[in-house]
Amino acid sequence: MERFKDILKASNLKSTHQRLAILECIDTHGHIDIETLFELILQKYPTMSKATLYRNINDLLAFYILEEVKLPQQKQKYEIKKVPHIHLLCSQCDTVEDIFVETNALFETISSQSGFQIQKSFIVMNGVCKRCLSKK
Ligand SMILES: [Zn+2]
Ligand SMILES: [Zn+2]
Repeated sequence: MERFKDILKASNLKSTHQRLAILECIDTHGHIDIETLFELILQKYPTMSKATLYRNINDLLAFYILEEVKLPQQKQKYEIKKVPHIHLLCSQCDTVEDIFVETNALFETISSQSGFQIQKSFIVMNGVCKRCLSKK
């Protein structure tokens, strides 16, 4: 909670209970779509409307506190903005994991081979997660 208060403060955004609840919920789930988030927020704030949720999400996106996660064949999800990372998408249980690995060398190879200047990247690896593999 304190961590998010500081993050909001750094962006000059008010630390409302609603914003903190939204951030906390997204943080707990890692990656979450708006419908699931709305259901969870309603358990805590039964009076919150979807419009209010969207407005808050848009504010948090505008200040780069949240980030959109667009995964193939999945509903759009949101996550707390982190350092650049790679997404591991499990084809069996649909969970998304973050993996933090150094990508500079890869990007340099791509740039030198193609002459393409990379500004932004979104990398997804499709496969089967550790949990699903251990079930077999
Ligand atoms: Zn899995
Ligand atoms: Zn992520």
